[in-house]
Amino acid sequence: MYRTHNCGELRTSEVGQEVTLSGWVQTIRDKGFIMWIDVRDRYGITQIMLSEETSTPQLMETARTLGREFVIKVTGEVIERSSKSDKIPTGDIEIKVNTLDVLNASKVPPFTIGEETDGGDDLRMKYRFLDLRRSSVQRNIIFRSQLAIATRQYLASNDFIEVETPVLIKSTPEGARDFVVPSRMNGGQFYALPQSPQTFKQLLMVSGFDKYFQIVKCFRDEDLRADRQPEFTQIDCEMSFVTQEQILNTFEGLTKHLFKTTMNVELGDFPRMQYDDAMQQYGSDKPDLRFGMPFTELNDLAKGHGFSVFDNAELIVGICVKGEAANFSNKALKKLEEWMKRPQIGAKGLVNVKFNEDDSVKSSVGKFYDEAQLKAWGEKAGAEAGDMLLILSGETDKTRKQLSELRLELGRRLELIKPGDFKPLWVVDFPLLEWDEESERFHAMHHPFTSPKKEEIPNMLNGDHQTMKNLKADAYDLVINGSEIGGGSIRIHDRALQSKNFELLGFTPEEAEAQFGFLLGAFEYGAPPHGGIAFGFDRLCAVLNGSSSIRDFIAFPKNNQGRDVMIDAPAPISEEQLEELSIGVVMPEEV
Ligand code: ASP
Repeated sequence: MYRTHNCGELRTSEVGQEVTLSGWVQTIRDKGFIMWIDVRDRYGITQIMLSEETSTPQLMETARTLGREFVIKVTGEVIERSSKSDKIPTGDIEIKVNTLDVLNASKVPPFTIGEETDGGDDLRMKYRFLDLRRSSVQRNIIFRSQLAIATRQYLASNDFIEVETPVLIKSTPEGARDFVVPSRMNGGQFYALPQSPQTFKQLLMVSGFDKYFQIVKCFRDEDLRADRQPEFTQIDCEMSFVTQEQILNTFEGLTKHLFKTTMNVELGDFPRMQYDDAMQQYGSDKPDLRFGMPFTELNDLAKGHGFSVFDNAELIVGICVKGEAANFSNKALKKLEEWMKRPQIGAKGLVNVKFNEDDSVKSSVGKFYDEAQLKAWGEKAGAEAGDMLLILSGETDKTRKQLSELRLELGRRLELIKPGDFKPLWVVDFPLLEWDEESERFHAMHHPFTSPKKEEIPNMLNGDHQTMKNLKADAYDLVINGSEIGGGSIRIHDRALQSKNFELLGFTPEEAEAQFGFLLGAFEYGAPPHGGIAFGFDRLCAVLNGSSSIRDFIAFPKNNQGRDVMIDAPAPISEEQLEELSIGVVMPEEV
């Protein structure tokens, strides 16, 4: 037998018992006549003890061959420690060793394996299997497992059925490029890996499954931005005979359940915000509501007073920094303006108005506006004595985006976010379509299967270009702390309307038929009204733990170049394989 107990469970109540433990050598303290060794497994650490007094010379000798990360099995008696440690749960006891077996030796690990480590990112990725031995990393992976189990429990108890959908499929447009897999048996043809199981879950509704879920891998070949992975996991769900309201309530219930069971956090009811309001008040479709600072538009007050920058701007909009935090020095303001002017943000300038305690007003545009005018701005923005308005102007969408960046940056810098605070939000009523100036065509804001709001259907079937731009969809996002956690929609379930949507998105009828004929065809066989949602599972793990990195919650993540540096993938394949796949032999450039 390898073990009677794990390394995290022995207490003084077991003193006197003979036990067997197996695990990895974490640290060795050799005082000559006495040795202490910390043995670790995923449950914890237990100290074992050997001494000249209590152990044979042979046992001491074996112990001295050990090194860090050796795998050992020890048998001995649980004894009370003379100097106890409150740092670990087993700190009151140690094991007086009788037998010691080396189960496997280990090379010296490339970095320290403990709660903290001295290993850099690259090294830890290369030796991910060792990084995963560290308790701080293991905790994240164990958390992920608990979250998945809690998800299954909740959905199963609400009559959802878990169905696996295929991984080798045809393109599903979610707005990214597909990863493709060549088919050996069908030379020159390719499968696509699913960007999501979207079309399959809709087909399951046509089949009558009614409530479906799957914790599923999705693949998107995107340029990797920070915190994106080419393969990631969704909690993917679909329901039939439901309204948007019922979907929101069901998944609000799931979210509350997950927070309660994994973190013991009680979330109140989630507020709802229309997409248009989110954009107007926070310049973002995923506002972080852990702090205030909503936008105040100043067009009506600030235009027409001879300040040409404002006079020519489509939008003049500001945020109010409150109290103490608003005591920026001139230098700090200058720095903030420079930060805003960096190409990543691209603001042209940053106007400030300070409302002093003595009721006077000072502004970087004081030349153009008198005190009464500036005070009217302050009033509109709810500024009090001591506060400061920071104002941007320019083209509407860009300016909102820039001010949103400033708001988030100030939230961080001024520490306006309480640690451990969670602020969920439903953003609803997204536009159906998004006009892309560059390619002069519409894109689906969510995806091509999203339904317009019922009352918009006649507009969609008959409207002009401007009408199409303004169509609203039954589409919604779940946002927590400024992260998009989930998104979904009520779907089109009518062939004619779906065809119209493909047409608006620039598909010819032939293209639509070739790519989505199976779905359009299925809609002709009694497709029920349906809708659903998918949660980003990796991101949900991160947000629940107040972490900004999804990578920490993925056992074997890819790096920023989309590489797995441990197994060294992607990698070339042999000429024979290429030939077999009818791909033709690609010569390396240098040849
Ligand atoms: N398939 C969608 C996505 O991946 C989610 C949904 O509409 O249910 O975002």
